[in-house]
Amino acid sequence: MSVQEYPLGISFEFFPPNTQVGRDKLVMTRDALASRQPRFFSVTYGAGGSTQKRTLSTVRSVRESGITTAPHLSCVGSEKAMLREVLTQFREDGIDSLVALRGDLPSGMSGIGDLGYANELVEFIRDETGDHFEIAVGAYPESHPQAESFERDLQHFVRKMNAGANLAITQYFFNADSYFHFVERVRALGVEAPIVPGIMPITNYSKLARFSDACGAEIPRWIRKQLEAYSDDSESIAAFGEEVISLLCQRLLDGGAPGLHFYTLNQAEPTLKVVDNITG
Ligand code: FAD
Repeated sequence: MSVQEYPLGISFEFFPPNTQVGRDKLVMTRDALASRQPRFFSVTYGAGGSTQKRTLSTVRSVRESGITTAPHLSCVGSEKAMLREVLTQFREDGIDSLVALRGDLPSGMSGIGDLGYANELVEFIRDETGDHFEIAVGAYPESHPQAESFERDLQHFVRKMNAGANLAITQYFFNADSYFHFVERVRALGVEAPIVPGIMPITNYSKLARFSDACGAEIPRWIRKQLEAYSDDSESIAAFGEEVISLLCQRLLDGGAPGLHFYTLNQAEPTLKVVDNITG
């Protein structure tokens, strides 16, 4: 069975580029990835509304491919009036799915805004717009980096789902068991909605290490050691990354994952290779 036939198939995430070169590149990436029939594309949103306009213009450009495109929306640093305006704009643009997040305030920005956590944002979206949007939220199989404890994080996650989310997409991880354990735990707490693994292709060790430190994703020692050994041999890193991530995806699907969401970083090639390995 091809990955597109799983209940939630595949989806691809982009960030809004801020240069013309970046925008041109994203059009090529979008077209290359659209050929693999994703269920949707999504476009990230900067905390405090910092990318509000660019997120929307990127959504408009990306969906010219004919693929449904969901903006992300984060609440930290924003007032309700502004979030209301953004939701109205999304609806006027014919958008009917989004990814709702708390977000992280960049250093230097102050004020958490009117809504402190993603469960409050989900509640707000439901209060304002009823069932208009399909809402996805974030999930953290290895625990959110600021969580008071694994158990408290699970409780907060359940609260967020119960506020009206339709599905969850996880932070990326390299250990399939952390995903299976998370799903088992939240099912026991009554969450029935699909939980889609977020997948980060491996293309560059130093960037990956930096990202992973910031978002609390663990790079297993055997992967770290191997990537360190390749140093700046980018071909070997790409080949190793493709193999590791393809096996991870296959294991997740074989173990019951309903689909896969790829953090593409606006690059087509590494994601395409993995998708084609698991489809073939
Ligand atoms: P929450 O669910 O609000 O959780 C944040 C922390 O607070 C956790 O430690 C949780 O345990 C705790 N918590 C939750 N609810 C409560 C409560 N009611 N009371 C007390 N504590 C609570 N960031 C962006 O800025 N833009 C994006 O576009 C973006 N896209 C993302 C997409 C995905 C799929 C994922 C997984 C993450 C994304 N992020 C994005 C990153 C995300 O914003 C950060 O991980 C952020 O730190 C947490 O967001 P959240 O919505 O998961 O937060």
